[in-house]
Amino acid sequence: MPEQAGALILFGITGDLARKMILPALYRLTADRRLDLPIIGVARTDLDLDGLREHVREACGGVHDAAFDKLASNLRLVSGDYQDPAVFAQLRDEVEGKGFLVHYLAVPPALFAAVAEGLAGEGLNRDARLVVEKPFGHDLQSARELNDELLKYFDEDHLRRVDHFLGKEPVEDLMVFRFANMLLEPIWNRSFIRSIQITMAEDFDIHDRGGFYDANGAIRDVVQNHLLQLLAILAMDPPPSKDARAQLDEKWRVLRAVQPISPSDVVRGQYVGYLDTDGVRPGSTTETYVALRACIDNWRWAGVPWCIRAGKAMPTTDLEIVAELRQPPVAMFEHGDAPDSPNLIRFRLQPDAGVTFDLLAKEPGRQRTRPVPVSVDFTKVLGPLEAAYVRILADAVSGDPRRFARFDLVDESWRIVQPVLDLPEPPLPYEKGTWGPEPAQSIPPGGWHSISTTFD
Ligand code: NAP
Repeated sequence: MPEQAGALILFGITGDLARKMILPALYRLTADRRLDLPIIGVARTDLDLDGLREHVREACGGVHDAAFDKLASNLRLVSGDYQDPAVFAQLRDEVEGKGFLVHYLAVPPALFAAVAEGLAGEGLNRDARLVVEKPFGHDLQSARELNDELLKYFDEDHLRRVDHFLGKEPVEDLMVFRFANMLLEPIWNRSFIRSIQITMAEDFDIHDRGGFYDANGAIRDVVQNHLLQLLAILAMDPPPSKDARAQLDEKWRVLRAVQPISPSDVVRGQYVGYLDTDGVRPGSTTETYVALRACIDNWRWAGVPWCIRAGKAMPTTDLEIVAELRQPPVAMFEHGDAPDSPNLIRFRLQPDAGVTFDLLAKEPGRQRTRPVPVSVDFTKVLGPLEAAYVRILADAVSGDPRRFARFDLVDESWRIVQPVLDLPEPPLPYEKGTWGPEPAQSIPPGGWHSISTTFD
């Protein structure tokens, strides 16, 4: 059993991620009486404890005084630069006797190894877990190097790599929908499914994040991590047991079967105007859009194209998975207005969550039997969803590993995209507000299905 934390040490408590996600999640957990332990912020900024409490209150937005007072009473502060060993000596004094430690690194990845080493220098890696934010590496080699560095101080059982998609409830619902019902599993294979399409569209451009984005691009930013994690959840075999390890093992087994993406199965795009953004290098070839076709070489999926597209400055902001079923073997009915409407199963993950089946039903009132498309919508009305970071933080404290990226999964997903990183074709231009460059439209056989919230 993973150990429950006695104290949470938050490196980067003054940073952007802490302000937007981590501190509000810590407040939520405290207000819900699910978290009550010392939280030690480590920051370089010149702050005192009152200043830190004020910073946390601002980050949390509208708070109830009693719940915030509880959170504030748990806050501690250690100040200084992570390159300075004195910070870790101060931290050791602060955590003395507090039991099992969880170190959460909401800091730039270039600092992960230095912080791990600093912690080990004071023995703070013993009886401790290390949680690191994304990105985990820049490519396969750098991910392995970073992992080797961290493994010097923390073993795999005590490492947690955040991929916040794994904390999203609609992502977890994919597993519930697949494995808590008998409906899907019998047809969820190459005999019945013609293709799977995963779309992550954002209707905004990179704004002022030019420096960050230009060093990464869509493949590194969302495909290697979030979207391949989704593929693994959708494509894996049923885990043989409920425990976290069984789930992670099945995800790893299916990623092992994914062939490295061939550059000829990829279209990269860049929206017109990208090069004018502050922080973007002149003549940059970073992609703001990618469409690719992946093949899973196993008995369940061989021959089924898994198509993924992700882009900025798209017509809409949506995350949706569309599974297209094969046609019935014999056409019994007059198809009329809907000549080849295939059955589709749509999983919507963002902005709303739900499942829709696009089926054919008899058009009412006509003498001849003519099928027309109908949508059967199972939009979830089960209640408000919990924010991903609330679940990530709760798991970081409790130690449950299933909503984190185990290294063998990270390694496989870099392996899958590495050929495209090594030999990228130049990105094709596309206008903002469109679905990317024209050649990307033929990545799936028959083209992309329109996603449910748009009618393109
Ligand atoms: P950030 O705003 O630059 O914050 C970095 C934090 O690290 C600050 O608290 C900063 O302290 C501290 N820091 C940096 N260098 C330091 C040093 N030498 N010694 C002590 N403290 C130092 O970064 P961020 O956007 O929060 O990102 C943090 C991590 O989350 C990164 O791994 C990033 O990739 C990941 N992430 C961020 C987002 C996001 O939306 N921001 C989303 C997903 C993942 P001072 O303020 O005191 O300088």
